[in-house]
Amino acid sequence: MRIWLQNVWLAVSSVIRGLWLTLRVWLKTYRRPTFTEVYEYPEQPIPLKARYRGFHRFDLTTCIGCDKCAVACPVDCIYINKSRVPGSKGFQVDGFAIDYTKCMFCALCVDPCPVDCIFMGSNHDLSCYNRDGCVVDYAKLPLEIAWGRATLTPNAVAASKVIDEPVWIKGESSTT
Ligand code: SF4
Ligand code: SF4
Repeated sequence: MRIWLQNVWLAVSSVIRGLWLTLRVWLKTYRRPTFTEVYEYPEQPIPLKARYRGFHRFDLTTCIGCDKCAVACPVDCIYINKSRVPGSKGFQVDGFAIDYTKCMFCALCVDPCPVDCIFMGSNHDLSCYNRDGCVVDYAKLPLEIAWGRATLTPNAVAASKVIDEPVWIKGESSTT
């Protein structure tokens, strides 16, 4: 009988502790300031941690088109379009698209790059109205945007969609 009463008390006290915890968390939500009270986003940028993994930074002028990043990507969301440079062993990168509907920002594409031309950037907002806007071809973006010196915006991505040629070709000066 004593053990039975102990078990009943244990069950009842566990339920009470659980309910008390739920009640405390629920009440905390009324004291927590809303997101817009803390941050004036999008008027002011949100402070990010130093190693935040945002949209990539990519340097077209350094990339050798070796495909190592694409091979390392666990979700196969890097699409590299390249062609042989006439009279040379190297490749010309004609397209370097990342599909952000699939990318999970794991950064596994960064480490294998032998020439350090792809990094995770700090940009985090690329709102778009359709899925095509989430596929960013870094070879068609102005070099300073692709490399993270200027902000990657949906307008820049939309403008890159109407370009056929990469913005920079080996041996030629930049068109941006
Ligand atoms: S961050 Fe990860 S998922 Fe995104 S492109 Fe790089 S390897 Fe692929
Ligand atoms: S690993 Fe680096 S050099 Fe090779 S294709 Fe990817 S970004 Fe270009």
